[in-house]
Amino acid sequence: MKNRLLWKIGFLYLLMLLLVVFAVDAYVVRAIKKEFLDAAFSQLESLARLAVLNPPQAAEENAIKKWAERFGQSGVRMTVIAEDGRVLADSIEDPATMENHLPRPEIRDALMQGSGRAVRRSPTLGSDLVYLAQSCQSKEGLDLVIRLSLPLNRLEEAQFDFRSRLWVISLLILAVASGASLLFFRTVSNRIGRLKEFSSRVADGDFRPLPLDQNKDELADLSSTMNQTALKLDRTIRTLTEERNQSAAVLASMGEGVAVIGTDQKVLYCNDAFCSAAGIAGMSCQGRPITELIRHSDFLLIIQKALAGGETIHGEVVVGSIRTRSYSVTSAPIRNDGITTGAVMVLHDITEIRRLERARRDFIANISHEFKTPLTAIQGFAETLLGGALEDAGNRRRFLEIIREHALRLGRLTDDLLKLAQIEAGQMQPEIQPVNISAIIDPCMEVGRIKSDQKGLILNAEYGADVPPLFGDLRSFQEILQNLLDNAVRYTPPGGKVLVKAEVDGPEVIVSVSDTGIGIPKADQDRIFERFYRADAARSRESGGTGLGLAIVKHLVEAHGGRIRVESEVGQGSTFYIHFPLEPK
Ligand code: ADP
Repeated sequence: MKNRLLWKIGFLYLLMLLLVVFAVDAYVVRAIKKEFLDAAFSQLESLARLAVLNPPQAAEENAIKKWAERFGQSGVRMTVIAEDGRVLADSIEDPATMENHLPRPEIRDALMQGSGRAVRRSPTLGSDLVYLAQSCQSKEGLDLVIRLSLPLNRLEEAQFDFRSRLWVISLLILAVASGASLLFFRTVSNRIGRLKEFSSRVADGDFRPLPLDQNKDELADLSSTMNQTALKLDRTIRTLTEERNQSAAVLASMGEGVAVIGTDQKVLYCNDAFCSAAGIAGMSCQGRPITELIRHSDFLLIIQKALAGGETIHGEVVVGSIRTRSYSVTSAPIRNDGITTGAVMVLHDITEIRRLERARRDFIANISHEFKTPLTAIQGFAETLLGGALEDAGNRRRFLEIIREHALRLGRLTDDLLKLAQIEAGQMQPEIQPVNISAIIDPCMEVGRIKSDQKGLILNAEYGADVPPLFGDLRSFQEILQNLLDNAVRYTPPGGKVLVKAEVDGPEVIVSVSDTGIGIPKADQDRIFERFYRADAARSRESGGTGLGLAIVKHLVEAHGGRIRVESEVGQGSTFYIHFPLEPK
């Protein structure tokens, strides 16, 4: 039963039509009957009046019979009844066969009131009969009752006639109206169906508009309102989706870890940065309790405080045991109508800031320490000299040489610090040009050879003519190589070998300095490029090292777009590799 509403309306109309037809039928049938009865009674009354005007002789039975027969000729039946109910004459039947008529209501009424009326069904005729009784007197003064009756056989015919016309017309009207209604309902039903289909389309997220409804009625208005609603919905959803995507992209690409936690302590949202900070990268966090994901009590405490107290909580948390990371944590409650519905947690990685702060502190401590030793020595020997050692011809020269040596060391330290500061501050003004590898290696070899010869080392350089020129600053290249060469000589015992090589490897030129010296322990290899870091502090200081050489080298190499690495075995020797790109950067 599709279109139930329309069927209901249809049934309602049918019911109404039937009710009206029945009402009309009942009313009109009664009206016809009344009309017939009124006409019949007035006809009978006229005849009765006529009959009463000309009564028969009571003693003559024949005169009464004739009287009855004469009036019977007018189409009505006339019966003459004596006061005691006996039938004296009848225009149709033999009075001898007829029963006493006193019980008949019209007769009684006539005897009592002068006239009486009745309508009865005649079993013999099968139709209603109208009776009119009238009391009168014979010429001899005998009380008589005449009764006139007329069959109403035309009444039923007229009623049937009316009824059949009424029903035929009603059925015709019904058929025409049904056809028209069906057509109308079908159109309306199709239009409603389209609206229904459209609203379920919209519910499924398809916002294509309905074709324009040309009609000018409420349904057309509804269709255009629905189109407008869908358009607005579409726009709103698009805007919201765009905003949500933007927010999601912003949150996902943020370096800061962001998580939203509900009051039930379940994670509603978290970005990748949060997962990796919390050490849960790759796990699905959404919907899981935060206590299940994060074990760190400081984190949990901050979240719980924000959720419970409804205030923004700031804190700093250090996670990890070997490689610690520091996070500045802010947890702010989310409020809705004054009720806390969750908390947003933002993790800011401050490991680097803390590391730099520590490095700065260490650096100052290191500088103080590095300066303290030579200054104490200079101060001590100067005081010794002033205290009388100047007169000591055997020692004064030695003391002065120690003072000079420490002053030179201070000089080297300040030089190196200055260089480092300049490089780091970007104040170096390099002259970028193509530099031949021989222009780098040869002068360094000359300086290195003096030191290696003094120490009894074999120093060699190997590079082919195919090594192309490097792009960069000549003095910086020489500084790099000289530092590495000095270190190689410094940390290689007499009799050892030092080799400088340059070769092309794919898109790079690799310059390496290898020695057969004391080597660097694995644990120190990562850190020797830090300022003041020494694997072997005593040997470094003893041989005049500042602990800054490799830091300067690393900076210069990186400024040329290259990288430096070391391979070393304790007791076997070390090789420093510098990879320079062939293409200038
Ligand atoms: P230094 O002035 O102390 O040599 P560097 O920065 O040049 O400072 O080197 C840092 C540390 O690296 C040194 O103290 C030393 O322990 C280690 N080192 C550097 N080069 C070598 C090498 N060729 N062989 C062994 N150890 C080395």
